[in-house]
Amino acid sequence: MKSYRIGVLKGDGIGPEIVQANLRILKAALSQFQESFVEYVESPIGFEAIHSHQDPVPASTIEELKKCHGWILGPHDSASYPEILTERRNPSGELRHTFDLFANIRPSQSLPGVQGLVQNVDLVIFRENTEGFYPDRNMYHGVGEWMITPEVAISTGVFTKKAITRIAHAAFQSAMERRRKVTIVHNANVIKLGSGLFLRTCQEVAKAYPHVTVEDLHIDAMAAHLIRRAGDFDVIVTENMFGDILSDLTGELVGSLGIAPSLNCNENQAMAQAAHGSAPDIAGQNIANPMGLILSTVMLFDWLYVKYHDDRLKKTAVLIRRTLDEMMKMNIKTKDLGGSETTTQFTDAFIQMMNQDK
Ligand code: ATP
Repeated sequence: MKSYRIGVLKGDGIGPEIVQANLRILKAALSQFQESFVEYVESPIGFEAIHSHQDPVPASTIEELKKCHGWILGPHDSASYPEILTERRNPSGELRHTFDLFANIRPSQSLPGVQGLVQNVDLVIFRENTEGFYPDRNMYHGVGEWMITPEVAISTGVFTKKAITRIAHAAFQSAMERRRKVTIVHNANVIKLGSGLFLRTCQEVAKAYPHVTVEDLHIDAMAAHLIRRAGDFDVIVTENMFGDILSDLTGELVGSLGIAPSLNCNENQAMAQAAHGSAPDIAGQNIANPMGLILSTVMLFDWLYVKYHDDRLKKTAVLIRRTLDEMMKMNIKTKDLGGSETTTQFTDAFIQMMNQDK
């Protein structure tokens, strides 16, 4: 029987707390099987790696991840790294770039028992992950930002047909499995060349999916439409920065940024990463919500199932997801969702409920 190597990167801020909660839940879910088939490979990243290797993303961590089927990444607090390191790509940007994880898939779904600002939401954002308006990751070498004088800065946006084509295919393929509707989000009325290429390329890809309804909206209008009628959207495809901003918005719309998951992937590997950051304001207090990372891990196991067709992976994902829905229905929640559970209490209750359900 096949086994899987899963990398574990704890990260900074609330990272170690939510990664630990996540691992406890994953191990409990996997204990339903007689034989263990998941090997955990822990590697340093962020502050831990700066202390041990003087590098937030050491070469040894990259080498270990190359041998993994997928991995779980805790958030990082790269804004607080020593100044000499802040000029580099941040750890998640570095991993996305190194492994060419071109698709950042960020779903937002109304959960039972969670009072969101908008009801009946079930959408997924396909965010292009390798170029666009982020100058620290849209270059092969160096950073696409310069200061001409202390008062003049130039930041590049990069848009290539190749990168747009592959994220568009990923979005349309997902739409075929869902409600068959894709919204292309762009700003082609102003950024005529870059955003124009994004829109046109997505529209060309759409021709290969005649059963999918396609619409396009400008990024500013999209922000308003999401608040007004997020429930109408199915799959959204957009460039790197627009996707990052919209997914924070949709995360909050369905309840809390703390429950927003994401998966970074290509055809070969996938990285589970909650959409939120390292939340330094609540780090070390045992109050962080681990749900965003738990749902990201469910996405990782779903992705592994699609790739390897191993029923044990699907069963693991389904069990964790079902338990999470039960937890919400029974109002067992952390503070950000109006509950009173600490991270540890939430995790204990989760495992107890999952064990009853097995
Ligand atoms: P980054 O730039 O790294 O994405 P950020 O500055 O956007 O980070 P976050 O770290 O995501 O910010 O935090 C935004 C707010 O959401 C903070 O008030 C934080 O406490 C809260 N938050 C984020 N994640 C969680 C979580 N898992 N549980 C509870 N609250 C959270």
